[in-house]
Amino acid sequence: MIVGVPKRIKRVMLAFLSPDEIRKMSSTKIITADTYDDDGFPIEMGLMNPRLGVIEPGLRCKTCGRKVDECPGHFGHIDLAMPVIHEGYPKTLRDFVRREIWHGKGNFASLETVLRSKVAMLAVAFLLLHAVALVALLCGADRRIAVAGVTLVSVLCLTASVMKYHRFPMSIPINGCLYYLYLWGRGLALVGTLYSRAAKRMRSKGHRE
Ligand SMILES: [Zn+2]
Repeated sequence: MIVGVPKRIKRVMLAFLSPDEIRKMSSTKIITADTYDDDGFPIEMGLMNPRLGVIEPGLRCKTCGRKVDECPGHFGHIDLAMPVIHEGYPKTLRDFVRREIWHGKGNFASLETVLRSKVAMLAVAFLLLHAVALVALLCGADRRIAVAGVTLVSVLCLTASVMKYHRFPMSIPINGCLYYLYLWGRGLALVGTLYSRAAKRMRSKGHRE
């Protein structure tokens, strides 16, 4: 048993910093790619801005006041003139869904991982709602069952979008549609996992016979 540990880490989450968080962390804004002036001093708001820390032995950091060997260095930020798309982001909706299928597979490794993941549970509910609506339509059951299934799926996607993008109301319908594709990707990950598990079982059964 470990004694004297003040906090136990239960889980670690990784996420992107928002532009506001980056600006809050930043010690200065960078507006020019220039570094030093004619006298050899770092240019304010340039890439060698003394608020980021200093490398010249005689100078002090303008953020913490310490010298080169004591200052840890500080973050700055650049406000981009146009939005820039990260090279790692998917370029088409097909790539987006394929990426989510790949990401989702880990969530369906076992029943325990499904129960631990909110997204996996949502994906299961999403697939079930589609299945209920489809079966109701094919069997000629009351149409209201199919309508209820479709409505619940729409509410699910829009609620997820509102919860995450409430600060950007204009993007809520588009992100609602993206959530629909996202949940399809995660749902297909479950279907793929079940399929490959069944195929494996069939193969091992075939070997034994
Ligand atoms: Zn400093």
